[in-house]
Amino acid sequence: MNKLGKKNIIIPIILILLVGTIFFFATRNNANETQVQYKQFMREVENGNVSEVYISTKETMQFKLKDGKIFITENPRSLNLKETLLLSGVKVYERDLKSPAELIILITIAGSLVSAFIYLTLKNSKSKGGAFRLSSIDVEATQNTGLTFEDIAGNFEAKESIKELVDFIKTPEKYAKFKARMPRGVILYGPPGTGKTLMAKALASEAGVPFFAVNGSDFVQIYVGVGAGRIRDLFKKAKEKGKAVIFIDEIDAIGEKRSMRADGGSDERDQTLNALLSEMSGFKNSEGIVVIAATNRLDTLDEALLRPGRFDRHIEVNLPDVKDRQRILELYCKDKPMAHDVDLYKIAQLTVYFSGAKLENLVNEAAILAVKENSEYITMEHLDKALSIVIAGSEKKNKDIIKEDDRKITAYHEAGHALITKLTSNSLVRKITIIPSTKGAGGYTLTIPEDKTYHTKRGLLDMIKIYIAGRAAEEIIFGEENITTGASNDIQKVTEIVLGMFKDYGMFKETGLLNYSVIQEHTQIDSKTIVEQANHLVSNLYDEVKEMIIENIDKLNILANELLEKETIYEEDINRILA
Ligand code: ADP
Ligand code: ZN
Repeated sequence: MNKLGKKNIIIPIILILLVGTIFFFATRNNANETQVQYKQFMREVENGNVSEVYISTKETMQFKLKDGKIFITENPRSLNLKETLLLSGVKVYERDLKSPAELIILITIAGSLVSAFIYLTLKNSKSKGGAFRLSSIDVEATQNTGLTFEDIAGNFEAKESIKELVDFIKTPEKYAKFKARMPRGVILYGPPGTGKTLMAKALASEAGVPFFAVNGSDFVQIYVGVGAGRIRDLFKKAKEKGKAVIFIDEIDAIGEKRSMRADGGSDERDQTLNALLSEMSGFKNSEGIVVIAATNRLDTLDEALLRPGRFDRHIEVNLPDVKDRQRILELYCKDKPMAHDVDLYKIAQLTVYFSGAKLENLVNEAAILAVKENSEYITMEHLDKALSIVIAGSEKKNKDIIKEDDRKITAYHEAGHALITKLTSNSLVRKITIIPSTKGAGGYTLTIPEDKTYHTKRGLLDMIKIYIAGRAAEEIIFGEENITTGASNDIQKVTEIVLGMFKDYGMFKETGLLNYSVIQEHTQIDSKTIVEQANHLVSNLYDEVKEMIIENIDKLNILANELLEKETIYEEDINRILA
């Protein structure tokens, strides 16, 4: 912040005057207009009598009738109100309604304030930057966070991906010589507390460069252009340092998809996003600046952010599985006095769905308990008690202690997908996990499909089988009454594929070599036939899949049990079991 001279106390005085005046008019306004009930207001809207509505952040809002009369009513602060009004043909303004006289007074005051402001700023220009720089952002580089990759347990894949960047930051010239385009932006996505910030910090300190940390919400301002200015400021500061890691937490605040934003896309956000994109495309390859952004969910981000040359490397940072939980616990217990009977694998088994942050917290609570009891060591009992404390203290209690039943259902569901994948296709099953990802599923099976330009009819049918296999396994193991909602995504995919086969690809005699979307443009079609045919087909495939699973029930059981024990299993184990 700049230090303003004592003589400049005139600014606060003018500010007080301005605020006072606005307050005066704001209250006077309300005194002048009749207040009506919200119900009556809505009635006037329905009758088409209202011409304009002025919605601000105040408790009340003003509206003008077609005959020019002005009233006020309660502001419901509802998100839908604006839409409802617009649909009824009412003009909506997001400000107060001011009379011309008031406007003139306000403009005069604002004008004199701005003149005084400019005058003082110019007088002050020796202290760089001027009195208030709306665009400045208080971010200082941290020279050395002191963290190394050793301080991150588990997360092997993500860590390896990040490690590659160390060399690039240290010697960008090497890559520039070969015209290799290294990633400028990396997005780390996954649930909170899984070590995303930790990785960015470790990267900076291992590469020995300054670390700039900001939050996406710092850039979302009411004034158009401020956020964009802050972005340019941030990059300028980073460039002054030569090399740097810039970490933007909660990037969604800037880069959320338009369709997902509550405000439906505003100029301010667009400008901020564009500023970020253009700063990133402005890097030279020889510069060692890397931008790391973190978000909980990748699928909510604007595609513009994810394109090549921008944030083109996406690294998933997931909740740790049992092995990784043990590693994280070990990391935090390493330099603490631990009793000999402490079995961290056991604690790892009890902490399903815990993030790294929560595990760290758990060990800390146990240490505090040990100190309180004047104990020499942290014991199993301390850890057990700490676990109850951490679970009780978290908001999502029920989610943390997931029922064994739920894990079992997920394990069989995913095992079903994997089994049928192996039985029907040449695709590789890389990984099966029952740890939920940010995609919202209970677990998932990661397959690498064969590389093909076309899908054959056989291939599409197999794909359907793989998708319905999760539900089929659930039904076989737990009974028809106990099938779950876990298959909803699978069913959506199946529907898309099967309707495509009938409607667009002309793959069945029953519906012929016709494109039904085109037909629909010209005549009304009766979609009943297609739906019936599609349903018939999927039902048959479902029966076939159930038979296949029953024939291989031992394999399914082994897969599911191993999943329950390890939570995540990889290609090698999968191939061994399914061989
Ligand atoms: P995120 O940025 O993903 O929300 P953080 O990096 O801020 O998570 O993690 C918060 C804290 O949790 C870290 O400071 C660290 O103590 C702990 N933590 C999380 N994940 C790990 C991990 N894999 N290894 C070690 N500590 C972790
Ligand atoms: Zn599924």
